[in-house]
Amino acid sequence: MTKSETLFRRAQEIIPGGVNSPVRAFRSVGGTPPFIARGEGSHIFDADGREYIDYVCSWGPLLLGHRHPEILAALERALAIGTSFGAPTEQEVALAEAICRAVPSIEMVRLVNSGTEATMSAIRLARGFTGRDLIVKFEGCYHGHVDSLLVKAGSGVATLCIPETQGVPKAFCDTTLALPYNSVEAVEQAFRARGNEIAAVIVEPVAGNMGCVPPRAGYLEALREITARHGALLIFDEVMTGFRVAFGGAQERFGIRPDLTTLGKIIGGGLPVGAYGGRREIMSRIAPAGPIYQAGTLSGNPLAVAAGLAMLRHLEAHPEVYQQLETRAAELCAAAPPGVTVNRVGSMFTFFFTDGPVTDYESAKRSDTARFGRFFRAMLERGVYLAPSQFEAAFVSAAHTEEDVRKTTAAAKEAFRV
Ligand SMILES: *Cc1c(COP(=O)(O)O)cnc(C)c1O
Repeated sequence: MTKSETLFRRAQEIIPGGVNSPVRAFRSVGGTPPFIARGEGSHIFDADGREYIDYVCSWGPLLLGHRHPEILAALERALAIGTSFGAPTEQEVALAEAICRAVPSIEMVRLVNSGTEATMSAIRLARGFTGRDLIVKFEGCYHGHVDSLLVKAGSGVATLCIPETQGVPKAFCDTTLALPYNSVEAVEQAFRARGNEIAAVIVEPVAGNMGCVPPRAGYLEALREITARHGALLIFDEVMTGFRVAFGGAQERFGIRPDLTTLGKIIGGGLPVGAYGGRREIMSRIAPAGPIYQAGTLSGNPLAVAAGLAMLRHLEAHPEVYQQLETRAAELCAAAPPGVTVNRVGSMFTFFFTDGPVTDYESAKRSDTARFGRFFRAMLERGVYLAPSQFEAAFVSAAHTEEDVRKTTAAAKEAFRV
């Protein structure tokens, strides 16, 4: 038995499914997840000493790869001062300022501890601000494990074949309308029927949690126009796309100004952080400035803030990173053979094992997941670590080298044939 297998047995005794987040299990692809011993740049090493080129990158946060020296140095400086105060610090202000500089639609921002917390809080804020209850979301979009948003929620849920989830009261789901992604008509219809009850539309401006699905031309513009016309808020969930598809996120890339934005992943530099922000008029309604309550013992945690700030400062100083990411990701995507559909936006992409275009959850689900499983295992055997699900995006980091790309492409050429 390998060390990973031994560890996984131990884990399964006391951690549900042996993992602290369902997507880490290999349920849909088979086998035992390698237990990771350490990471360096674009590579990770498992408990058995095997080395992999890492395209999970902690599910997105590690845009600069593992153990980036500037992030490590910032963490060391933060450690020397103290790990948590539960009181305001200068660094939090600096991180908030850096976020607002990068994402102009964010005039004020509140830091939280995860992407889930960010979307949950943004939804509450949208409801409090508009005095309406309904939320529109899109099938296949994941916004964290927020009760009312776990309807048709893509990746983790899709992979495990849990149609919805148990434990969410029906009344919560009744406040959520789930519509097909990329259909303007569905949104028009929903607003025609219930426009004056809809508090907000929440969307992944580039979907990543049903695999990578770009917005159709004009789709985000239509969401902006329809929500504005009906007095509903537009929330861009940029937990994955923020600082990934452009420095200013998908809203910079596509030129749309949402009312609220949620962030996470990259803004924590590998530590747990989330944030939500937007128009001053809306954000001013949050306690203690306003009546909508949201709080957190460890929010704005000094270590997490230090890592996030180092990340953002690096990206601000090195805008050329994004061109490099784009080039490397495009080279990787060129490896796909006929019959495999590749979707890519910037440095996030998915190989869908279907020959038709993938534009929404329905078309994503046409993928041959058994064939994906074989591809995934063949890649893992060849030292390439991908997300263990067809319905996830792969992430390229600034640490991925030309050589990584060459090796990955060579591995993929073989793996696509198995
Ligand atoms: C990852 C993700 C979340 C949830 O973030 P957590 O930090 O895992 O809670 C929310 N929305 C999107 C778009 C994400 O990709």
